[in-house]
Amino acid sequence: MALIDSNPGMPGYLAHPREYRSWSQMKTRCRNPNNPSYKSYGEKGITFCERWMWFENFFADMGERPHGTSLDRIDPYGNYEPDNCRWATQQEQLNNQRYPRERYKPRSDIGKKRAPYKSRETKSHQPSCLPREFSKNPKKQRLDRRLYKYKVVDLRTPREKSKPLRVLSLGAGVQSTALALLAQEGRLEAPDIALFADTGWEPAAVYDHLAKLERALPFPVQRVYSHAGKIQDSIATGRFEPIPWFTADGAIGRRQCTKVYKLYPIRRRVRELLDGKTPAGGCHMLIGISTDEAHRMKPSTVDYITNTWPLIEMRWSRADCRAYLERRGWASVPRSACCGCPYLSDADWIARAHAPEWPETVRLSHALAATGQYMHRYLKPLDQIDFSTPAEKGQADLFGDDCEGLCGV
Ligand code: SF4
Repeated sequence: MALIDSNPGMPGYLAHPREYRSWSQMKTRCRNPNNPSYKSYGEKGITFCERWMWFENFFADMGERPHGTSLDRIDPYGNYEPDNCRWATQQEQLNNQRYPRERYKPRSDIGKKRAPYKSRETKSHQPSCLPREFSKNPKKQRLDRRLYKYKVVDLRTPREKSKPLRVLSLGAGVQSTALALLAQEGRLEAPDIALFADTGWEPAAVYDHLAKLERALPFPVQRVYSHAGKIQDSIATGRFEPIPWFTADGAIGRRQCTKVYKLYPIRRRVRELLDGKTPAGGCHMLIGISTDEAHRMKPSTVDYITNTWPLIEMRWSRADCRAYLERRGWASVPRSACCGCPYLSDADWIARAHAPEWPETVRLSHALAATGQYMHRYLKPLDQIDFSTPAEKGQADLFGDDCEGLCGV
C-alpha cells in the first residue's frame, strides 16, 4: 500500500494531512451527533463503508487529493464508499447538491413511484444508496436482512423499540462466546445485536473466530471502532498513550485503552440504536463475566445502559463455559486481547510467539522500548525475553484487574 511503502512507520495524518482531514471530517459528519453537520448526514442515514473505518483503506481507494478539491459523493443521497466518491471542486459540488425533494415535487407525483435519482451533472449515473428501511417486498427483504446484519438497518418494530434494547458485549473470548451460543440455542433471551469493539490489533485467530460467530449467530454482530483509529498507532505517534505500559521503574501506567477503544465506541453505537436518545434503562447490556471473575462486575456509569451478567445468574464459572463450548463444538476459542497487551500472562506470550502477527508485535515492542516503555514487566523488547526459564517467568494474567468487563471476556 502506497501509504506504508512511502512512509514506513509514519501515521496517516502526518504522511497525508489533507486527505486525513477529509477522512476524519467524513467520519465525524456521519457518526458524531455533536458535530453541527451530523443532522444533514448521520441523522439522515448517510454513513460510510466499513472498509473506510481505517485511513489506509480510504487513501488506497481515493488517492491523493488534488488542490482545490474536497470529498464529494457522486450520488448525494448515497453513502461514502469507493464507487460513490470523488475529489471535486467547489463548483462541481454545487452542481451536485441534494434537492429539497418534497419542495420541488410536482403535485402530480404524489402517491406515484418516483424515478430514481440522477445527478444534475452526470445524468446517466445510477444511485447506489442503500435502502434505509426494511422493505415489505419479500425479495428485497432478503437484502435488507443482510444489510441489517452487516450495516444495520434497524428492523425493530415500534413495539420492539419501546422495550429495552438488548445488546451483547461480544469480546469474542470464552465467556462472551458462551453467552452468544447460549442465546443462539434459546437458553437465553436473544440480544437484538452483539457489538464487538475492534481495536484493530487483535490476533488473526480472534478475527477468524469472530467471522465464524457472525456466520453462526441468528442475531446481527457488528464491529464498532474508536474515533482514535487503531490502538497500536499510539505507539508510533506517542501523542496519546492509552495503554498501561510498564515503565523503567517497574510501575504500570494508567489504563485508558478499554474506555477509549471499547467502552466509548460501544456506547456511541448504543445511542445510535436508541435513535440518539438516552432514556434511563434504555439498553440492557449483556456482559460475559463468570463466577470466578465476579469482582469485575461493575454497574454502568451511564443511566441509559443497565449492565447484566447472565453467566453469574446461571452460576457458571470459566470452566463451565469451556465445557459448554466443547460440547457445542467450539473448543478452540482464542484468547481475545490486543497483540501487545501488557496484561497478558507468560502463557499467552508463549502461545502468541507462533502467531503470524508476532514479528510486527516484536517490532513495536522495540519502538516502544526506545521511548522507555515496555510490554512486559521484565522491561525488555519481547524477543529478548526467554519465557521458558524460571528466572524470566513471572508475569501473571492481569486481566483479573478491573477492565470495565470488556477486555479479555
Ligand atoms: S486488550 Fe489490553 S491493550 Fe487492548 S484495550 Fe484491553 S487492556 Fe487495553
